[in-house]
Amino acid sequence: MQKFTYQNPTRIHFGEGQIAAIANDIPKDKKVLVIYGGGSIKKNGVYEQVSAALASHEWAEFAGVEPNPQYDTLMKAVEKIRNEKFDYLLAVGGGSVIDGTKFIAAAACYEGEDPWHILAKQHTVEAALPLGCVLTLPATGSESNKGAVVSRGKDKLAFMTDKVQPLFAVLDPTTTLSLSPRQVANGVVDAFVHVMEQYLTFPVNAKVQDRFAEGLLLNLIEEGPKALATPDDLDVRANIMWTATQALNGLIGVGVPHDWATHMIGHELTGNYGIDHARTLSIVLPAVMKERRADKEAKLLQYAERIFGIREGSVDERIDAAIERTIAFFKEMQVPTRLADVKLGESDIDVLMSSLESHGMTALGEHGNITLNDSRAILEAAL
Ligand code: NAP
Ligand code: FE
Repeated sequence: MQKFTYQNPTRIHFGEGQIAAIANDIPKDKKVLVIYGGGSIKKNGVYEQVSAALASHEWAEFAGVEPNPQYDTLMKAVEKIRNEKFDYLLAVGGGSVIDGTKFIAAAACYEGEDPWHILAKQHTVEAALPLGCVLTLPATGSESNKGAVVSRGKDKLAFMTDKVQPLFAVLDPTTTLSLSPRQVANGVVDAFVHVMEQYLTFPVNAKVQDRFAEGLLLNLIEEGPKALATPDDLDVRANIMWTATQALNGLIGVGVPHDWATHMIGHELTGNYGIDHARTLSIVLPAVMKERRADKEAKLLQYAERIFGIREGSVDERIDAAIERTIAFFKEMQVPTRLADVKLGESDIDVLMSSLESHGMTALGEHGNITLNDSRAILEAAL
């Protein structure tokens, strides 16, 4: 195991009715800006619950954060915050709203010339407004981590800083009952790939992290299809919600190398073609597993055995079988597994390659040894 320091400061309020808990988590003297997306919270009762919880706070709202939150939209919120002096942010929505709010929190306090540099030049975030969140879509883990992804045109870039980690997160699984099957599936797949990015790396004998990660993968494989088949089953939703949070709250990622090549290549697919985040991952991950099988051999074999019970056959046969089972799970979740499934082909690979190059994605993977040529091979394997 590698050395690490671990702290997750986000307080979690889990379960039905827990939105009320935000009343005590946000100091009464704060002026709160509630930030949300395209309006799903107005249809499923979440907005009313938030309003009721904030009855004794001074607050206003900023709506319209889009999926894959856009820089220009977020900067409008920053302007509102500066003009009207808000000093606490409450994100209500999925990963896009939470990520967008994290960027707003940092940009509102940024003193450099251009807040885009937080993403494009990875400028250090010295300060950010305090924020909390009400999660309505289990997927990203953004509700209790320090990362955020923001888009500007075709550029989809990430930043990480402790300064924007939510102080609290409400996880009420009943809020997820209004999700479309597509968003349910996307969430399960995103969480699955988050675990894989931290688990399917060079083995470092981190047994706690491995067993936790395997538990999360098994949960997603078991519960994900149930959420599609029996969408009213609240117990299934609750288990998926807690699994997705644990998948990217830092715990399974301590002391182990991280890959993230699938995410970085996936971001270019979203940036250039607008494909849903999770659906880029289900296309890229099987190709990463195929192309990086030498680096990942020992872990792929462990994954094959512990997740799918594959013990028979040569090394290559077992790895092939594990990749096939992964693809079968994605198909069960009704997400694409090849570029052809989203009508992309050979000629699109050049577009993606130039985006990867322009974003400096030239040394990806847990060893930093995935060159541009390797990324091209991964994309070709995904055709
Ligand atoms: P999302 O983009 O936040 O939301 C997708 C759609 O689901 C929106 O149209 C939203 O509608 C709707 N929705 C959300 N909750 C709903 C509910 N309870 N009922 C009905 N509809 C609902 O999806 P996401 O997958 O959570 O977030 C994806 C973003 O997160 C991507 O930009 C991705 O790159 C990023 N990400 C971040 C991290 C991280 O660690 N920070 C990790 C992975 C991915 P409304 O807008 O109307 O609410
Ligand atoms: Fe993700």
